[in-house]
Amino acid sequence: MDELKRNFPSHFYSLDADDLKTFGKDWTRVFEPAPSVIVFPTSTEEVSRLLKLCTQHRMAVVPSGGRTGLAGGAMATEGEVVLSFEKMRSMGEVDSLSHTLWVQAGAITEAVHQKCAPSGLTWPIDFASKGSSTVGGNIATNAGGVKVIRYGLTRNWVLGLTVVLMSGEVLKLNGALEKNNTGIDLRQIFIGTEGIMGVITEAILKLAPLPSESDVFFFAVESLPKVFALFQEVRKSGFTVNAFECLSNECLKVVLAHRELASPFANESHSYVLLEVERAGHPNAQTELEAWLEGIFNQSLVEDAVLAQSPKEATQLWSMREGISEALAARGLLHKHDIALPLNRLQEFIETWTQDLDQNYPGLKPYIFGHIGDGNLHVNLMKPDAMAVPEFRDLCKKADQGMFHWIQAFQGSVSAEHGIGLLKKHLLKYTRTEAEIALMKSMKQLFDPFMLLNPKKIIEGQST
Ligand SMILES: Cc1cc2nc3c(=O)[nH]c(=O)nc-3n(C[C@H](O)[C@H](O)[C@H](O)COP(=O)(O)OP(=O)(O)OC[C@H]3O[C@@H](n4cnc5c(N)ncnc54)[C@H](O)[C@@H]3O)c2cc1C
Repeated sequence: MDELKRNFPSHFYSLDADDLKTFGKDWTRVFEPAPSVIVFPTSTEEVSRLLKLCTQHRMAVVPSGGRTGLAGGAMATEGEVVLSFEKMRSMGEVDSLSHTLWVQAGAITEAVHQKCAPSGLTWPIDFASKGSSTVGGNIATNAGGVKVIRYGLTRNWVLGLTVVLMSGEVLKLNGALEKNNTGIDLRQIFIGTEGIMGVITEAILKLAPLPSESDVFFFAVESLPKVFALFQEVRKSGFTVNAFECLSNECLKVVLAHRELASPFANESHSYVLLEVERAGHPNAQTELEAWLEGIFNQSLVEDAVLAQSPKEATQLWSMREGISEALAARGLLHKHDIALPLNRLQEFIETWTQDLDQNYPGLKPYIFGHIGDGNLHVNLMKPDAMAVPEFRDLCKKADQGMFHWIQAFQGSVSAEHGIGLLKKHLLKYTRTEAEIALMKSMKQLFDPFMLLNPKKIIEGQST
């Protein structure tokens, strides 16, 4: 600490008790924050000096963005230095020729959208926490979200990265190049590795044209097989699909109660689907959409449907999907999973696993929603009011074994988009082989030999 004080001005760091609590944690709310200091660099050069100093004095560092992470990746629980990007939010000008934007890592995701929109462009990383999450956090988690079905993951939208290694070395990777086949693409080592390999300080983002006029539908569907049959029809429709999101009846009920909203439908259904399609390339979109809609009603694929008639109505329909995490969190104690399955095995997985849960753990009710078009489910088990917390945790732990068994059997993933962090480290073995984990450990050692950068996240490692 003395070294930090000697090398940086007092406004560079904070020892304030509230700051230690706030900046030492993320959204997981499972671990207790206990950092020793929070630092607020303003430039890559300051990050480099800081990391070099921390390595010299063997101080562990936790990079921290918007702290919306759901895997404990930004948790500082053992006296680490928390490196906040709150003072690194600068953005350059949108380059409308190359469709790129330079930003510092602390730029807020939604601010990037707002910056690009007047140029008819966007950075297509979009989800409910975009008002707080940062570009650095999005890249470090290779974030997904509600538009992956159209645009893919964050990885696809990053051209250049400036990264600082724990030694203080600064790497400027790939610049603004779309094409650059010159050996190992080192950029990728820092995307999706939750800040354990290096600290991202700047990025050159690749931008997409803003989607043109879109239609938002909300469908009531009577069964899971019909959700998948509807998805097949959507894919055949010829319209560009921006989102295909699904939620169970239980999830909708919790959102409606939390937000004091009325259901758009007269009757309850098994599931609901939010579909957004883009009209571009369809001069007779209205007629085509009406014919398509008639077709899916004729096939009895949906029980009821609502089509947003205005941007305001579209936002209201979206809020039924985007409000779920917040509404569930407000309703009670949750045990959460974010899993992925090959799309063609997803239905079978849900049926097998829920049957298993029903038979063996009848007290545990699943709340299921997610990016079903990407094979990604968010599964929440909520503590029943009458059950004690330790009993609930114990039951969930036991029930998890069944879920992981089926995930492994169906060749799925224990973490689709939230990452591994601290929370899911013990689950890595269900998706990655021993050989893969050993290789990850060797790579970590190469980049961070003293195991000081975001230690104990994703993998455990021995310092050299
Ligand atoms: C309501 C809600 C909805 C969500 N929906 C989605 C969703 O649909 N899809 C999805 O993918 N995620 C979702 N998330 C999770 C979360 O918002 C994303 O993981 C997001 O990308 C995290 O960004 P952040 O800036 O908050 O990162 P943080 O939580 O601060 O950090 C996340 C990880 O990145 C590391 N990190 C942060 N900044 C840097 C940096 N500059 N350099 C190196 N490492 C860094 C941290 O150490 C940590 O390991 C949701 C979260 C909430 C609360």
